[in-house]
Amino acid sequence: TETKIKKPNWLRVKLPTGENYKHVRGLVDNHKLHTICESGNCPNMGECWGEGTATFMILGNVCTRSCGFCAVATGRPEPVDWDEPQRVAEAIYLMKVKHAVITSVDRDELKDQGSIIWQNTIKAVKTLTPDTTLETLIPDFKGKAEDIQRVIDAAPEVVSHNIETVERLTRQVRIQAKYWRSMETLKILKAGGMRTKSGIMLGLGETKEEVVQTLKDLRNSGVDVITMGQYLQPTRKHLPVIRFVHPDEFAELREIGYQLGFDYVESGPLVRSSYHSDKHVLPGYGR
Ligand code: SF4
Ligand code: SF4
Repeated sequence: TETKIKKPNWLRVKLPTGENYKHVRGLVDNHKLHTICESGNCPNMGECWGEGTATFMILGNVCTRSCGFCAVATGRPEPVDWDEPQRVAEAIYLMKVKHAVITSVDRDELKDQGSIIWQNTIKAVKTLTPDTTLETLIPDFKGKAEDIQRVIDAAPEVVSHNIETVERLTRQVRIQAKYWRSMETLKILKAGGMRTKSGIMLGLGETKEEVVQTLKDLRNSGVDVITMGQYLQPTRKHLPVIRFVHPDEFAELREIGYQLGFDYVESGPLVRSSYHSDKHVLPGYGR
C-alpha cells in the first residue's frame, strides 16, 4: 500500500482570486486556448494569473508522450489548428504583458514535430506585440536540427527545454525521451545563438550528486538559466513524491548553480519552469 508523505507547510499556497485572475481566465476561455498552469495543476496560479501572466500550451492539449510526472492527457491529438498561432498572439496582446511564455505538448506523430506551428506562433506574437519578450519552452523535436532551426529562425528571447530529472531516472520519468538527446537539443539551440534555459524537478528519488552532475552536463551544453523546484504528484496514477526537499537544500543548490557558471538560477520548492520567467531574459538578474 502507498503511504503518502505529508506536504510540508512551505508548499501551501493561496487559491486564485481577484480581477486579474478573472481577466486571464476570460481570455483563455474566449480564445479557446490551453495553459500548462491548469493542465499541470500549478501551485502558483494565484500569484501568476493574479499578475496577469500565464503559460500557454499550443498544439492542443493531448500529448503523444506519457511522462510519469505530467498531468497532460496522452493519446491521439486533434489535427493541427492553423489558427491557433493568431489566437495565442491576440490573447497575449490583450493581456498587455511585457513577457509571455509558450509551451506545447509533444507531437511525435507529425513530420515536422509541430515546429511549423511553433514558428508561426512566435512570428505572430512578435508581429502583434513586438515589445513583448518571449520564452518558448519547447519539446526535444526528437533532436532534429531542421525542426529546432525553425524556432531559432523565429528568434524568441529565451528558449527552454527541460531535462526534468537526472540521467538515471530519465527512462522512468520521461519514458519516450532521452537524457542525451535533450542535451543535444539544447546544444543546437545554443549554437544557433539562443539564450537557453532548462529545468529539473527534485524529489523523484535523485541524489544530490546526480543533480550536481546534471547541472554540469547542462552547463557543458551551454545552458544559461536553470530552474529547480519540488516535484508534486498531480494524481495518484503519477510517480510518487519520494522526498520533500527542504528550502535550505534548494538554497544550497542555487549557490552550486552559480558556481558552475549559470547566469540565472531559480531554485525553491514552488519554482516551476515558467515561474518568474520574465526575469530570465537578461543575464545576472538573479544576483
Ligand atoms: Fe503558470 Fe508557470 Fe505561473 Fe505555474 S509558474 S501558474 S505554470 S506561469
Ligand atoms: Fe507532459 Fe511534455 Fe511529457 Fe507530453 S512531453 S507528457 S506534455 S511533459
